[in-house]
Amino acid sequence: MLHELPKLNYDYDALEPYIDAKTMEIHHTKHHQGYVDKLNSVLDKHPDLRDKDLGKLLFDVKSLPIDESDKISILNNGGGHLNHSLFWEVMDPGNEKNEQLSSAIIEQFGSVDSMKEEFENVAINKFGSGWAWLVRDEENNFLIYGTDNQDSPYMHGYAPIIGIDVWEHAYYLKYQNRRAEYVKAWWNLVKII
Ligand code: MN
Repeated sequence: MLHELPKLNYDYDALEPYIDAKTMEIHHTKHHQGYVDKLNSVLDKHPDLRDKDLGKLLFDVKSLPIDESDKISILNNGGGHLNHSLFWEVMDPGNEKNEQLSSAIIEQFGSVDSMKEEFENVAINKFGSGWAWLVRDEENNFLIYGTDNQDSPYMHGYAPIIGIDVWEHAYYLKYQNRRAEYVKAWWNLVKII
């Protein structure tokens, strides 16, 4: 099975003014496509891994008997593929509020705003390229944390719920170095909570 770039359910300009159309187009057709292509290329060498669930593969890859450089490529590009696939889904303008999710967030964090505050701190203060995440851990509790580069919560055995890309390619055209402004504006696109 070849991994494929997911089609978006919306146009590149649908997230304006919070994320501009040019950023969306480059991000989807160049960056995300690049991760997909490189993932397929490394998996060509390991046909037995091609059909494995990608989240499971990211969790298991360190213990597999394959070259270290291939492990790193699978983690970077497989993580890049899954991270971006979720990112596009979370921002889908057709999304509706998930009442069950919101209630669970309120139960653990006290309010949706408290969760957002903690998440924003991670996203804004993440040094260099990476992601901030709201995930569920093995015990189904929420956890907010950051990952470097394209490391994926699946590597850590977590189920990602909401993730923001804080690589500069995600916001630089519109926000330049003003990451905090991008992170705060981004909540306008997250309709599920
Ligand atoms: Mn990205």
